[in-house]
Amino acid sequence: MIIHDVICPFCGCLCDDLELECEGGKIIKVQNGCALAESTFMTDTRLPAPIRRTESGWEEISYNEAIKETAEILQGADRPLLYGWSSTHGEAQSVGVHIAELIGAVIDNTSTVCHGPSILAIQEVGHPGCTLGQVKNRADVIIYWGCNPIEAHPRHMSRYTTYATGFFVPDAQRERTVIVVDTRRTDTAGIADEFVQIEHGGDYAVLSALRAIVRGKASVIPAKVAGVSKEQLIRIAEICKTAKFGAIFFGLGLTMSRGKYKNIRNAIELTDELNRHTKFVISPLRGHGNVYGSNEVFTWMTGYPFAVDFARGIAFYNPGETTAVDILRRGECDAALIVASDPGANFPRAAAAHLAKIPTVVIDPHVNATTALARIHIPCTAAGIDAAGTAYRMDGVPIRLKKVIDRGYPDDAEILKKIYDRLNGGKGP
Ligand code: SF4
Repeated sequence: MIIHDVICPFCGCLCDDLELECEGGKIIKVQNGCALAESTFMTDTRLPAPIRRTESGWEEISYNEAIKETAEILQGADRPLLYGWSSTHGEAQSVGVHIAELIGAVIDNTSTVCHGPSILAIQEVGHPGCTLGQVKNRADVIIYWGCNPIEAHPRHMSRYTTYATGFFVPDAQRERTVIVVDTRRTDTAGIADEFVQIEHGGDYAVLSALRAIVRGKASVIPAKVAGVSKEQLIRIAEICKTAKFGAIFFGLGLTMSRGKYKNIRNAIELTDELNRHTKFVISPLRGHGNVYGSNEVFTWMTGYPFAVDFARGIAFYNPGETTAVDILRRGECDAALIVASDPGANFPRAAAAHLAKIPTVVIDPHVNATTALARIHIPCTAAGIDAAGTAYRMDGVPIRLKKVIDRGYPDDAEILKKIYDRLNGGKGP
């Protein structure tokens, strides 16, 4: 059987043109996807049942036992943390927020270690963005700043930018100018028309210099700014000012380098400045398939996009204090529920070590590095493979993920609803 128009749930591009060939309840071929999509659909390392850590190793337990024990762990905790949510659908994310509110927990998503600074900057100065469709059809200048889409979002360039034929850009390869700004020569830099190599931590200075040049104040710029020559900066500013439509995409190289959210604020203000001359937009390249959705769901339910603390009985948001990494590093939380993410693989050592000290429950389709720190791991469906649901693309467009196969696992939203029921004396959210 061939299934058409399948959405790949792996990265924020949520490519919606995949074709899957299924046979005997298995996916045997993935067409149109990149290598990441192929391994997403073809690899399945799921446990057959939930597991619980014992003194001598792991033992299999039933879903009912796992759900009961998880509810007891959360119920008995003074400062529970619910973290992750970016690789599952909005339906599971919304149950997570209900649980957090019910038990007075902190709920945070993976933006806390990726584009949290982008959100803080957008809260301060707004977001001159647009859909990826607009970029595909109109943009003749593309800037990738602090990101490497060839490795992290392999089809971004072929679907929306460098190689994508657009309505107003019929000969994309000739008509689009691609500029890459990075501290090292990445694969993406290798195919750019202009590569701007900046010194580590120099993003803020380079953005400020570009703003000054666009403002007509090139005379105040020194001969070199963070390793970039004044001539190149003037050339880049000119390319941007004379574009018909420009788009800046930025990644963790900008959000997580020195300056953090101030870098993004400066980049947005550069975009504003360029809009005095032409049309320019800016957008973060979001990583996990539905990390944008976790910000959306959290915001429409609590008013805040991540790091929401219900300990006071109301939603409280203070990144740096209520963010998962900070709570763990301070050794503050005494139980954790990790859903659809792998903090054990990417949190700072002290934060990950605290997860191993407290009762941690993982609800995730696959065994991952966090499993090694956990007391219980509950396997579930993978959104977009054996569960349908809503996800948000990196440009904020909601897309319905398809269920393409049945592998016999319960949906994580169902598992979470059962945990909620237990915590709430049998009454659902
Ligand atoms: S670019 Fe991202 S969404 Fe598209 S097929 Fe590759 S991994 Fe999937």
